Amino acid sequence: MVLMSPSKGISLAISGTTRLYGIMGHPVTHSLSPLMQTFAFQQHNLDCVYLPFPVPPAQLSQAVAGALALGVGGFNVTIPHKEAIVAYVDEVSAAARAIGAVNTVQVRDGRMIGYNTDGEGFLQPLRALHLPLTEIVTCMLGAGGAARAVAMALLEAGCPALVLANRTQARAERLVAVLQEHFPAAQVRAVPFAEAAGAARQSGLLVNATSVGLHNAGEALLPETCFHPGQVVYDLVYRPLYTPLLQAARRNGATIIPGLDMLIGQGAAAFQIWTGLPFPVQAVRRLLQPFFATAS
Ligand code: NAP
Repeated sequence: MVLMSPSKGISLAISGTTRLYGIMGHPVTHSLSPLMQTFAFQQHNLDCVYLPFPVPPAQLSQAVAGALALGVGGFNVTIPHKEAIVAYVDEVSAAARAIGAVNTVQVRDGRMIGYNTDGEGFLQPLRALHLPLTEIVTCMLGAGGAARAVAMALLEAGCPALVLANRTQARAERLVAVLQEHFPAAQVRAVPFAEAAGAARQSGLLVNATSVGLHNAGEALLPETCFHPGQVVYDLVYRPLYTPLLQAARRNGATIIPGLDMLIGQGAAAFQIWTGLPFPVQAVRRLLQPFFATAS
C-alpha cells in the first residue's frame, strides 16, 4: 500500500516487512519527530515508519514491554518519560547515565539500550559554526533537564569555563556539584539570577536552557546590552523559531542558533544510532519550515 502526502514531502510504501519506530510521550501530538524521522527513512529507501505513541505515565512500563514484544526497532522518549524510562531499559549509555535521562532507545537482539542524544544534538550546530569551544567562556541560563544535558555535552567537548544562572539558585548549585564531580578540571560556577546579565555579557557563548520565550511568553530574559558581535547566542526554545532573545541578539550583532537546530540535531543522532546512516539535515530543515512559517 502506498500512502501519499505530497504537501509534507512524504510518500510511504508499507509492506509486511515494514519496521516500526516511534516516540513515547504525553502529550505527543505536537511532536515533529514522526514527520522528520519517517522522511529520513524515506530518503534512505529504508522500509521503516515512525509513529507517535501517546503513553500516560502510569502505562510506561507496559508500553516499553509492548514495544519489545511487537518488534519495534527503536523509539524516542520525550516529556514526561525521559527520567522514568531509565528503570525499564536493559542498558544505559554512559552519557545518558550521567544526565539521568534517556531520549532514544535502540532495540538490539531483544535488549533495549538507552541513549541521550540531546547533548550531541546541541553540539551539532556549534560544530557547523566551527566555534572553538575549548577557548571560550559559556554562560547558560537554566538548570533543568535540558540544561543538564547541554552542560554535560559542553564540558565533554572541552568547554573550560561554564557559568550557570537559574531562577532557583539552589537548583543551579546542585547542577554545579554534579558537573564538578564529572569534570573536576573545568571551572563551573553558579551566579545569582540577578547577575545573569553580567555573566551573559562576558560570555562568548550564551545558552538559554530555560523555557522563557516559549510561545513568545514572559518578559525579556536579558537586556539588549548583553549581546555583542563575536558572541554566539543559542536558544533551546524552538517555538517560535526566532524567540525574543534571539531577535535581540541578532539586532545587536551576535550570531544566533535557534532551538530548531538542536531539535534536528538530536533527531539526527537518534537516526544514526538506529541506522548507522547520516540524517538529511538540510532537507529536514526545509521540510519543517512550513511549521514555523509565521516566524520572522
Ligand atoms: P525543565 O526541566 O522544566 O526546566 C525549566 C527551566 O526553565 C528551569 O531552569 C526553570 O527555572 C526555568 N524557568 C521556567 N520559567 C522561568 C521563568 N519565568 N523565569 C526564569 N526561569 C524560568 O525544562 P527542560 O526540559 O529543561 O526544557 C527547557 C526548555 O528547553 C523548554 O522550553 C524545552 O522546550 C526546551 N528544549 C528544547 C530542546 C530542543 O531540541 N531544542 C530539547 C530539550 C528542551 P527554575 O529551576 O527556577 O524553575
